[in-house]
Amino acid sequence: MKDDLRDQLNEVMDRYPGLRLKPGRSSCAQLEGEFAFEVTDGEFKSLQGNFLVKVSVPRTYPRSAPTVWELRGEIPSGVHVNPDGSLCLASPIDLDLALSKRPSLVDFLDRFLLAFLVGFLVYRKTGRFPWGERKHGVAGALQGIAEWLDCKPSKGIVVPCLRVFLPGHKPGNGENCPCGSGERYTICHEPRISELVREYGSQGMCEIAWRQLEILGFPGGFPKSRLRREQEEIILELLGRGRLMPTMAPNVHFGS
Ligand SMILES: [Zn+2]
Repeated sequence: MKDDLRDQLNEVMDRYPGLRLKPGRSSCAQLEGEFAFEVTDGEFKSLQGNFLVKVSVPRTYPRSAPTVWELRGEIPSGVHVNPDGSLCLASPIDLDLALSKRPSLVDFLDRFLLAFLVGFLVYRKTGRFPWGERKHGVAGALQGIAEWLDCKPSKGIVVPCLRVFLPGHKPGNGENCPCGSGERYTICHEPRISELVREYGSQGMCEIAWRQLEILGFPGGFPKSRLRREQEEIILELLGRGRLMPTMAPNVHFGS
């Protein structure tokens, strides 16, 4: 195990002392135990939670997000639970962008698992999640990407917009914007695309776009000659595993 990952796991266990490192396959680290919390500020005062969870950190972390299961069966399968029983914490692009910017397990658990469980407690009380809900599966992935790119959540628009992040796919001067607005790219989506590249780096956005395209069922479009060796290994591993995001497998129909 890399020292950095070990530090991150220790940080998690300091913050959530109920979680313990479980021996697992050598390919990934696994934490299991009580995820206990109390939320005392904000609109929903003094919400206390204690869930038995398993957090699986993939070998491709932080490029791929950890997968989380709730083990007591308190969360009904209709409520943001994937077919494999793991929790559907967020849209794949939300997880990718968050981990790309700040690859920290504690951050991931605070931002996605804690938020998810607090949301679930509110849902159990009121029948509604305190924040917006996205669809599951590919539709949810599209929604997430469309929000980030500020375009319509349809495959015909999201896919060409994502391809702009791949090497050699940037529209030239005077070319139309891939979002289908009929405007020139430079005055339409170029500012938003540049903003994301500034924030997450061109290499980072390229990898993220590539993964999102895979999730949407559009593999390829990534010129092999431009791949760094490391990237190539990651991609081969992802393809070998048959799915790209641990929390949301592509082309799976999600119930309710
Ligand atoms: Zn546009």
